[in-house]
Amino acid sequence: MSNLFPVYQRWDIEPAEASGCTIIDKAGKEYLDFTSGIGVCNLGHRPVAVEAAVKEQLGNFWHVSNLFEQSGQEKAASLLCEYAGMDRAYFANSGAEANEAAIKLARKATGKTKIITFLNSFHGRTFAAMSATGQEKIKHGYGPMLETFVYVPFNDIDAVKKSADEETAAVMLEMVQGEGGIHIADKAFVRELAAFCKEKGILLIIDEIQTGIGRTAKPFAYMHFDIQPDMITSAKGLGSGLPIGAMLGKEHLAESFGPGSHGSTFGGNPIAIAAASATLEAVMDEGFKSSLKELSGSFKNVLQETLSDIPGVKDIRILGMMAGIELLVEAQPVLQMLREKGLIALPAGTHVIRLLPPLTCTLEQIEQAAGIIADTLRTTASVHS
Ligand SMILES: *Cc1c(COP(=O)(O)O)cnc(C)c1O
Repeated sequence: MSNLFPVYQRWDIEPAEASGCTIIDKAGKEYLDFTSGIGVCNLGHRPVAVEAAVKEQLGNFWHVSNLFEQSGQEKAASLLCEYAGMDRAYFANSGAEANEAAIKLARKATGKTKIITFLNSFHGRTFAAMSATGQEKIKHGYGPMLETFVYVPFNDIDAVKKSADEETAAVMLEMVQGEGGIHIADKAFVRELAAFCKEKGILLIIDEIQTGIGRTAKPFAYMHFDIQPDMITSAKGLGSGLPIGAMLGKEHLAESFGPGSHGSTFGGNPIAIAAASATLEAVMDEGFKSSLKELSGSFKNVLQETLSDIPGVKDIRILGMMAGIELLVEAQPVLQMLREKGLIALPAGTHVIRLLPPLTCTLEQIEQAAGIIADTLRTTASVHS
């Protein structure tokens, strides 16, 4: 019997070690990891510079509390704000906590309570982040949600306009709905939404927890859309595997988060901060940015060329290094077959294979993964027809 609450449905793989894009399990079997720990290990497993920064900080101090001066946090905030086009950072321990901070700040700064979010969205598992999430399966059994979240269809500007009123504090959305099935926001919708929010004094919050830190081949996905959000939230890839989240905002929001208004014991933990700064230095490097641009172009071409003609593939949606392959059949059994062939991928929704490879993988690894998916889908398609 396990002493763990059984909240996770686990795969039958137990990792023994991992480096780069590879995981080796306890039986010695090698896997190509196209999940990056669910969008976390964007630099691959155990990137050298991050490991060195963490080891150095381990030898200095691990935790002292947010009552002390923290030049490590100042440095990480400065790097992150420059990378994200923002002015202020609040450090938390996870994505959901970053969203909690954004929701609290939006309410406090505007004095309003209503927040518009989108159907099929995912914003995390704490009470406010769960309430913000536009998927019933996440909320089932937990009773009444936090009030004043309104859910409208994704990419529907008229629905946003109809739902907005005098009490609306903010609109919160993902540029690519990750958990919801890799649905990419329409450019025209995002531009109109940003203009509408500006006109009405509604804060625009972009949840970049999965789409940030280079995942879409730009630092943050909103940069594909030529808009200026008031807040963005980051986590997953920010610490390369150490737990950290951040809520970033424009300067006009700073005074609403004064001393005592929010906080966390572990938020901005020195070890996690060391990992974040080293990660940011790596992804801000011009050489990294240009190879990422090239790699993401190949990622899109290879997937489309290899998979678009296969019966059973309904749609392929890609932004940067984030791909959704929508199938006519359910994804879970296919993912199981991929693992047997040495490729680890994720589901998104029920029918989508989600690929989030490390941003440091090679073209050969992309071709290998695409080949395994193609072979597997050809066999399942023939089984089903
Ligand atoms: C993963 C995720 C979250 C939640 O992050 P946690 O660190 O699991 O709390 C929130 N929003 C989006 C878009 C995510 O992908």
